[in-house]
Amino acid sequence: MATRIFSGIQPTGQKHLGNYIGAIRQYVEGQDRGEAIYCVVDLHATTVPFDPAELRRSVHDTAAILLAAGLDPERCIFFRQGDVAEHTELCWLLSSVTAWGDLNRMHQWKDKRELLESRQGAFLSAGLFLYPVLQAADVLAYRANEVPVGDDQRQHIELMREIARRFNERFGGVGRDVLVVPEHRIPEVGARIMDLQRPDSKMATTGGTEQGTVLVLDEPEVVAKKFRSAVTDSGTEVRRGEGKEGIANLIEILAVVRSVAPEEIEREFEGSGYGDFKGAVAEAVVEYLAPVRERYAELRADEAALERTLAEGAEKARAIAAPVLADVREAMGVGPPR
Ligand code: ATP
Ligand code: MG
Repeated sequence: MATRIFSGIQPTGQKHLGNYIGAIRQYVEGQDRGEAIYCVVDLHATTVPFDPAELRRSVHDTAAILLAAGLDPERCIFFRQGDVAEHTELCWLLSSVTAWGDLNRMHQWKDKRELLESRQGAFLSAGLFLYPVLQAADVLAYRANEVPVGDDQRQHIELMREIARRFNERFGGVGRDVLVVPEHRIPEVGARIMDLQRPDSKMATTGGTEQGTVLVLDEPEVVAKKFRSAVTDSGTEVRRGEGKEGIANLIEILAVVRSVAPEEIEREFEGSGYGDFKGAVAEAVVEYLAPVRERYAELRADEAALERTLAEGAEKARAIAAPVLADVREAMGVGPPR
């Protein structure tokens, strides 16, 4: 059987280079490698304070970025999470085999909780706590084998695997697994793109610096300026190493954009100054993102077409998820017997 790949992406219109390199690039490649299923996770977005009209817009923004980046509805299943009710139903069913203590240990929960609590009066939803269960349901509803996401999702994928194992143990028969335990696929290069201004923390939608975060839809001049002002170190060598997180990050980025190993970049820029090197990275990234920006403008302008694409995708997704849910309900004794 072909490898089934699943990934969900947050509907933040502002996708950054880290998202592109760590995730989106892999989604596109996944279409050639297996049966690829991708969704824009509007339900996950409701776990932190949000605006309903803005949520709708962001789903369209994100869908247009993904399609512009190369997701092809003929070669993958691409839909909006909230259109397929199996995700939420499975989330509830899986919560019975998810340990409260495990959820309470998740770094993302702890970090976002802290962030929200530091903002006076910010509402901390139960949904934020359950986020990893919904994420597990997203993947397990399709019996996907592989989840291509960045290294920052390691803990959530581990929990998802544990949930699948526990479900099979508790509700599967001898030699009869109901759910597939998926593998985490982390990109070899670019799994963690760092903030250009704070190279010790990852480029991120929440909590990153504005100058240090390169957006996929940034104007070329803006991209160039962000790279020119990237924080480096007091040394002179274009090489990765202790205390050289800034330069190492730029090396990784250029390696990905050029599809070569980081070592090759180090060899090429031996003896070059930081200024020249940054210029080369900026130029390469601008060229890398330009076609995405152009296609995005076209796709985003036609909301009716975007909605049609998402609706067709949801129908295909449901066709896979519904029988899995039927098996889960049957195994758990929920609803009438089959
Ligand atoms: P947030 O700060 O709200 O968590 P984010 O910028 O981390 O947002 P996500 O929506 O959490 O973005 O992640 C989307 C995908 O991009 C995930 O697969 C994640 O692993 C990947 N990703 C996010 N940031 C980076 C990064 N700096 N480098 C590589 N991959 C990344
Ligand atoms: Mg994240």
